[in-house]
Amino acid sequence: MTHSKAPAALGPVAGAESPQEKLARVRFVLVATSHPGNIGASARAMKAMGLDDLVLVNPKRFPDPEAVALASGADDLLDRARVVATLSEALEGTVASYALSARRRELSHRALTLREATAEAVALTPAPALAERALAARPQAMVSVPARAATAEAVALAAMSASAASIAFVFGTEMSGLSNEELILCQALVHIPVNPQFSSLNLSQAVQLVAYELRLAAAADAVPQTAPFPLARHEDVERLCEHLEQTLLASGFLDPWAPRRLMERFRRLFARARLEQEEVNILRGVLTSMRAWAEGRPKIRHPR
Ligand code: SAH
Repeated sequence: MTHSKAPAALGPVAGAESPQEKLARVRFVLVATSHPGNIGASARAMKAMGLDDLVLVNPKRFPDPEAVALASGADDLLDRARVVATLSEALEGTVASYALSARRRELSHRALTLREATAEAVALTPAPALAERALAARPQAMVSVPARAATAEAVALAAMSASAASIAFVFGTEMSGLSNEELILCQALVHIPVNPQFSSLNLSQAVQLVAYELRLAAAADAVPQTAPFPLARHEDVERLCEHLEQTLLASGFLDPWAPRRLMERFRRLFARARLEQEEVNILRGVLTSMRAWAEGRPKIRHPR
């Protein structure tokens, strides 16, 4: 029998997470919210469903008494909410991101219904390899703990790596929703089925529906889809895109005067592929070596 080190295919994992652990990985991102009341009402909607990670991108008014009033008791979420300047910052550390949009878009990402998206999001569990590696890296003296304690520790470590590797649901501004530039930074587009003649929900109502569906999905006994290796984070993929763009500009493939939405297309391709960290490193290594080769300084000189 040949001994293969290949990881098992996606499948059930031992030590499945509790619904609360699944929800703890989820981050809600509100982009350029105009009305502080909507921020408060969104915090309330999230807390009622057991979610607590709120990130605000460039809110018009925050903190604000109107947000506190509409939060009616969920002020702790508002106190902990992080305010950042760009969507890219808000997505740091995420391995999957879902953009909520009332409208279909041209050149859009994979489009999912809300129920499909929430089922997929809660089923994405951290790579078991992370917990195993963390266990293996423990000091020798600690290895004699009983098996059950070690397993509990592995599960806790997996949860830690999971909370560091979050999943984001992204909501747009009240008047115009998410811009195309914002959408393209996410991995999938999500639409909440509504009356086609009146398809736009109030922001906090959209937040409520997503939070509710996440709660139902987390409680359902879905088979976890474990990525065998750690997935690339948003910031890793962004650095790959910058590296690729610079290389394509240098090679002449990308014409800055006629970019033909090339980088958007690459972002869409990478989102579909759901890249692993290691794959990002390989692709960046390829770019570096090709550039060096083109500049007449190949990394490896082959004998003639
Ligand atoms: N007029 C805007 C809607 C803004 S509502 C537009 O046409 O895009 C504010 C946010 O709530 C949206 O950006 C989106 O994130 C969310 N939202 C509202 N209705 C939605 C729906 N039917 N499906 C998905 N998201 C929705």
